[in-house]
Amino acid sequence: MDPVQAAASITAVINALKKAREVVGRLKDAEVQAILLDAQEHALSLKEDVLALRAENLALKEQLAAKSTVKFDGGGYWSTTGDGHRDGPFCSRCYDAEAKLVRLQPTREYWHQCPNCGKSCEVMSAPRKPDPPPLRRALPRED
Ligand SMILES: [Zn+2]
Repeated sequence: MDPVQAAASITAVINALKKAREVVGRLKDAEVQAILLDAQEHALSLKEDVLALRAENLALKEQLAAKSTVKFDGGGYWSTTGDGHRDGPFCSRCYDAEAKLVRLQPTREYWHQCPNCGKSCEVMSAPRKPDPPPLRRALPRED
């Protein structure tokens, strides 16, 4: 059952119970009123559960969609966007342990470091970091 449809059905049950309580209230039957009130409270609790499950379901669907576009290659994870663009590399430790895509920072050559967990790794599928320019020596000033 669709969670939205389930929440709507529960709302209908709650409204029906409310109407039944109004009718019973006119009859002044306390025992039936208590039973209907109890049923109404259970229906409200059920509606909250359905809404929480719906939110959880949406979050899991998003995680699943993200996972299907993430691939391990050459020492790091890479994601592929809808237009086919490859993004990354991302930390394998953070993705495997926490399902987090944390962008690795290039340090030297093919080496990268994770700003989240601090892991250093060599990602051969990433472009090589260019060497830093040679240091310039300060020449003595000729005044
Ligand atoms: Zn990490």
